[in-house]
Amino acid sequence: MDAFTLSATICLAAAIMAASFLALYLAHAEQRCLRDWAFAGGLFFANSALALLLFGGKPPYWLAPAFINTLLVAAYASLLVGLRRYLGLRPGWPLLGVLALLVFSAHGLPWMRQSVEHRLMLLWPSLMAINLAMLWTMWRSPGFGWRSEFVPLAALQLFNVLQHALRLVLVLSGQAQELTLMGSNFLQTSGQLALLFFILLSGMGCAFVVIVGQARQLRALAERDAMTGWRNRRSLEQSMTPEQARARRLQQPFALILFDIDHFKRINDHHGHEIGDRAICHVTQLVADELRDYDGRFRIGGEEFLLLIPAEAAAHAPAIAERLRRRVEQTPLGELLITVSVGCARFRPAAEDWRSTLKRADEALYAAKRSGRNRSLAHENLSADGEPQAQPA
Ligand code: GH3
Ligand code: MG
Ligand code: MG
Repeated sequence: MDAFTLSATICLAAAIMAASFLALYLAHAEQRCLRDWAFAGGLFFANSALALLLFGGKPPYWLAPAFINTLLVAAYASLLVGLRRYLGLRPGWPLLGVLALLVFSAHGLPWMRQSVEHRLMLLWPSLMAINLAMLWTMWRSPGFGWRSEFVPLAALQLFNVLQHALRLVLVLSGQAQELTLMGSNFLQTSGQLALLFFILLSGMGCAFVVIVGQARQLRALAERDAMTGWRNRRSLEQSMTPEQARARRLQQPFALILFDIDHFKRINDHHGHEIGDRAICHVTQLVADELRDYDGRFRIGGEEFLLLIPAEAAAHAPAIAERLRRRVEQTPLGELLITVSVGCARFRPAAEDWRSTLKRADEALYAAKRSGRNRSLAHENLSADGEPQAQPA
């Protein structure tokens, strides 16, 4: 393919990237990274459109190569800015400005004016540095992993660093002769193809980050209760099925702790629903403080909650239940005294389904309610007729 056709194709790809991100941004204005990536597309477009003009005659040095190279670096940097914004980091526009100014001014050095090779020795490492900065930013982001939405974009950055490194070695080792401004030799043609590839795939990679990330956020929202942040009843089934399978395979039973706020209707009636809501959040916060991060927390009714205690601590479930009860009792919300009744039961891997364990925890909870509330009871301490046999743990 000749250099002109390639430049025209790059121009088109960049225009499509800019237009697509602009359209996405207009539809999702809250995702401001889309605007940064539309801007990156615009800079790639300006870069390749100016490169096309070169075919019409010899431009002044300040325009080509100085300005064209600056545009390319700025386009790369805008990708980084958008990524940083997506991750909630400071976008770093001033840094982009300084970088662009530095690249442009560097073209004033006599050494840079000498040859295309010298300019590439500045341009390529600058691009590689931005690619590496993107890789580093993704690597450091909390959600990064081999199954994360960043993988395609990260792989592309890595590929781009490697292809630039390879071509840099060729230039430094003097194997790349006869480089001209609009050269059609292998080094430059492959470079243009790589740029086309980079523009197309970075557009897809960035869009993938946003789309997959949003889908994950929506899924997480659908699984959680907005008020307390605890998982909702719908996600209970999803969490319990694997937990039950693990408990059966390893013969290590988990425990369920169920608690309900006592006389909550009175709180609502006397203090209003708003205080009622605050009481719910107050209790869930207190309970969460007493638990480990990996204990499952579910809001399964208005003011009824379920805790999934994994096997390691399951034997201590009655003690945990009592500790939670006491913590709530001892920590009023301002003047408002709140108590909870708690029931717990341990899964029997050979004999029952987790729903039966939940039912037994519920029996224990209602035995606690019947016997005066503000009490914790383990199902194993109930008599055959469902009444408490022994003192709570
Ligand atoms: P008990 O000690 O027997 O549990 O008595 P209770 O009054 O707490 O009875 P129950 O558990 O049946 O009461 C639940 C009440 O909680 C009824 C409902 O109006 C209220 N409620 C449920 N969800 C919410 C909520 O999100 N906010 C508020 N403020 N109230 C809620
Ligand atoms: Mg209640
Ligand atoms: Mg209730």
